[in-house]
Amino acid sequence: MKIMIAGKNKKISRKETKNLIKFYLHLLMKKSEYKKINITVTFSKINNDFLGYLQSEDSKNFYIHIDSNMSKKKQMRIIAHELVHVKQYIRDELESYSPITDENYWDHPAEVEAFGRSVGMYAKYVGTHVP
Ligand SMILES: [Zn+2]
Repeated sequence: MKIMIAGKNKKISRKETKNLIKFYLHLLMKKSEYKKINITVTFSKINNDFLGYLQSEDSKNFYIHIDSNMSKKKQMRIIAHELVHVKQYIRDELESYSPITDENYWDHPAEVEAFGRSVGMYAKYVGTHVP
């Protein structure tokens, strides 16, 4: 597994971002599932309604884009959210993927899981890592 970080972020260091991703992946999947993947996180100012999003070329290379203007907490929560989608890709859980429209976004099972689990993932990280 390779984790690459691009772009500038004044709120979270590259080292912490990498540790956070490893922590989250461990919560979501077995090591045998995530050891073969590569994750690139790009921090930038995103000039649209998205605070973060995921792109994937295949089930091996994943690109997460995060708006670095957000608070540290929000960024950490959105990284968790996008990694839930990575898990969904790897496990083929998006097989019955239907295009997400504005109307069904919040009700889409993939989003319900991503929003729900990201809260707990972040809480576990903070609970065990805050001094
Ligand atoms: Zn989502």
